[in-house]
Amino acid sequence: YMLQVGINGYGTIGKRVADAVRAQPDMEVVGVAKTRPNFEAEGAVENGYPLYAAIEERAGRFDDAGIELAGMVEELVEAADVIVDACPSGIGADNKSLYDEYDTPALYQGGEDASVADTSFNARANYDEAVGAQHVRVVSCNTTGLSRLVAPLREEYGVEKVRATLVRRGGDPAQTGRGPINDIVPNPVSLPSHHGPDVKTIFPDLAIDTLGLKVPATLMHMHSINVSLEAEPDAEEVRELLERQSRIFVIPEHMDIDGAGKLKEFAMDRGRPRGDFWENCVWGESVSMEGNDLYLFQAIHQESDVVPENVDAIRAVTNAADAEESIETTNDALGIGF
Ligand code: NAD
Repeated sequence: YMLQVGINGYGTIGKRVADAVRAQPDMEVVGVAKTRPNFEAEGAVENGYPLYAAIEERAGRFDDAGIELAGMVEELVEAADVIVDACPSGIGADNKSLYDEYDTPALYQGGEDASVADTSFNARANYDEAVGAQHVRVVSCNTTGLSRLVAPLREEYGVEKVRATLVRRGGDPAQTGRGPINDIVPNPVSLPSHHGPDVKTIFPDLAIDTLGLKVPATLMHMHSINVSLEAEPDAEEVRELLERQSRIFVIPEHMDIDGAGKLKEFAMDRGRPRGDFWENCVWGESVSMEGNDLYLFQAIHQESDVVPENVDAIRAVTNAADAEESIETTNDALGIGF
């Protein structure tokens, strides 16, 4: 049986999740929903995804643009075993009653408030909490990146405290209206940034402080990390632990990748779709220990690291596989790891 997956909101995240679902051996995209006939709607049709109108009053616009619709979003929700809601922040919560009406389990994205869902989700950290759940929130790009790092450190050494400074891209490449254009903006100025509390939706008892800044870049986020461990492993041991994590790419020194620009170039050279990086990218030589303090830099591709997490969450809510099996299937189907 192929799980029938519907995607409501076919933008930056939604279109990537659709392609990732299609690549899985046990899932099919039953359709995608959009509000308007823009280039991404054209792309959906081009890719062979049945396209549904998200807002009935605006359905005529698709006809006017010569884009054929398969129906209205309600029909998609009814036909799907699971809906992935990838609408802009806040819209997911508005859509919740629609999913409930058809009794269709739904995944939401990190822009939604944690209260929208029964549980927040990261495959490496808390897959089991989403098994059989009706509403699950896949945490944001930055929270996903932090959770993937914290989970193995906690298991292996214990974590006293995480301190993370997040240098955030001002906007995604297609977000022409975002900024700053020429500034370095503490965001928020007062601590903590929302990321620390968000990571605690995955690890409720974790001590974590986060600070955020926004810079004029679109490529990736960059995290400067300090974790006080409950042990004093040497840096090489920690590096090897991180190398064993399937969704952490430890950049070898010899690759001479000095920043997010070369990282993205590397992803494109390797033929990654849209130049995506599904993995955290940790600089190998940045992994350092001073006493029990671990330091490192990692880059997070905001547009794609949550994509494999959505695929795993689909299997969790439908109870189609356990964590290990799902992560392995997803990784194999997408080609995660280098
Ligand atoms: P986006 O704007 O690129 O895509 C959203 C899509 O939803 C657009 O195609 C839009 O037309 C469509 N849409 C708007 N209203 C709709 C409605 N009522 N019904 C159906 N579709 C509707 O946004 P995005 O970047 O993909 O973000 C989606 C979610 O993912 C947000 O919660 C965001 O916080 C989260 N997220 C984004 C990123 C990122 O960096 N882009 C990373 C992780 C998580």
